[in-house]
Amino acid sequence: MINEKMYELGSKRSIIREIFEYGNMRRSIVGVDNVYDFSLGNPNVPSPKELDASISKLCIKEGIHAYTSAPGAISVREAIAKNLNERFKTSFHKDNLYLTVGAAAALTATLRGLCNPGDEVITFAPYFTEYKVFTESALAKLVVVSPDFKNFQIKFDEFEKLINKNTKAVIINSPNNPSGVVYKEETIIKLAKILKEKSIEFGNPIYLISDEPYREIVYNNVQVPFVTKYYNNAIVCYSYSKSLSLPGERLGYVLVPDQVDDSKIVYAAICGAGRALGYVCAPSLFQFVIEECVNITSDMSYYEVNRNIILNGLRELGFECIEPDGAFYLFVKSPIADANEFAKKAQEYDILIVPGDDFGCPGYVRIAYCVRKKIIENSLPAFKKLAEFYNL
Ligand code: PLP
Repeated sequence: MINEKMYELGSKRSIIREIFEYGNMRRSIVGVDNVYDFSLGNPNVPSPKELDASISKLCIKEGIHAYTSAPGAISVREAIAKNLNERFKTSFHKDNLYLTVGAAAALTATLRGLCNPGDEVITFAPYFTEYKVFTESALAKLVVVSPDFKNFQIKFDEFEKLINKNTKAVIINSPNNPSGVVYKEETIIKLAKILKEKSIEFGNPIYLISDEPYREIVYNNVQVPFVTKYYNNAIVCYSYSKSLSLPGERLGYVLVPDQVDDSKIVYAAICGAGRALGYVCAPSLFQFVIEECVNITSDMSYYEVNRNIILNGLRELGFECIEPDGAFYLFVKSPIADANEFAKKAQEYDILIVPGDDFGCPGYVRIAYCVRKKIIENSLPAFKKLAEFYNL
């Protein structure tokens, strides 16, 4: 008998993938510019030229494809620590960093390293759907705090009630997928205060896992608080997928600061989880590419242009939108209670959007605007028809 749970994960396609496949079918019929596919968070901004040059140069270097040490090549981890210290006035060093196959692996290794069967991990809706998969595969239970519809920050009263002796960790994601919201400093301060108090009350540290693939994608100079400055038991899971537009190359890291309780033990457990999962080491070529490109990002102004067109365009048509401070997602209130039905109706106009139900937030849809500007511009007349259908 095979493992039922794994069979279910492998055979059940995610709704986002399903919509994307439908888009491929429609593109072949009506043409690539006439399908307004906002389903996937695949960065459309080209990776920086310096990065392409670095890949070309390094891929022919002798020994570049060899295994590196399991947590990542020393020089690469040193370069990342230096970059963080310069930006955030911290004092990290190479042994705080474990390089991973993107943020997905950073999260799975962290959750597996921390959790024992029966532990609980709290997150806040709307949340990245894979948190449930990652948490359950670490034999823990994901507990979800319902959305704060006022401003998509955190519903602290509900959160406090859900913390108990089994709470091992809390996952936050800011800038957020799917809402585009950035947690304000006051939100992080309050979160840290509660976590400190509850850790003392239950006699165990509650770890704060900060999932940060969108850290650099922010608008109007909004600041993303760096969590390790506010809470000692904070662990950062980062990815270069979005900041350098290379999601398919799979590079990220876990940062376990020295200030974390028993930090060396926690770090070793996360490395051990990576080992148990068979990660061996993060992709070697791209580790060294990151070392050379650690101080640069893709041109984020593309996303800002897209954001402004879609946000203003949809608001003018009467849609209620959450103003995104970061990431490349627009979260829109469905004009009818059932966002699935709304997304289905949108498909009739070749607008492909994802219902919020899977993100733990029914009644909303996600628009991933990391697409060509032309697609956004072409989509507005279709959105107009959709708005007319609902008499907005
Ligand atoms: N966390 C969030 C919130 C994401 O949106 C994504 C990818 O879209 C990931 C983690 C996984 O990122 P990676 O491609 O680095 O594994």
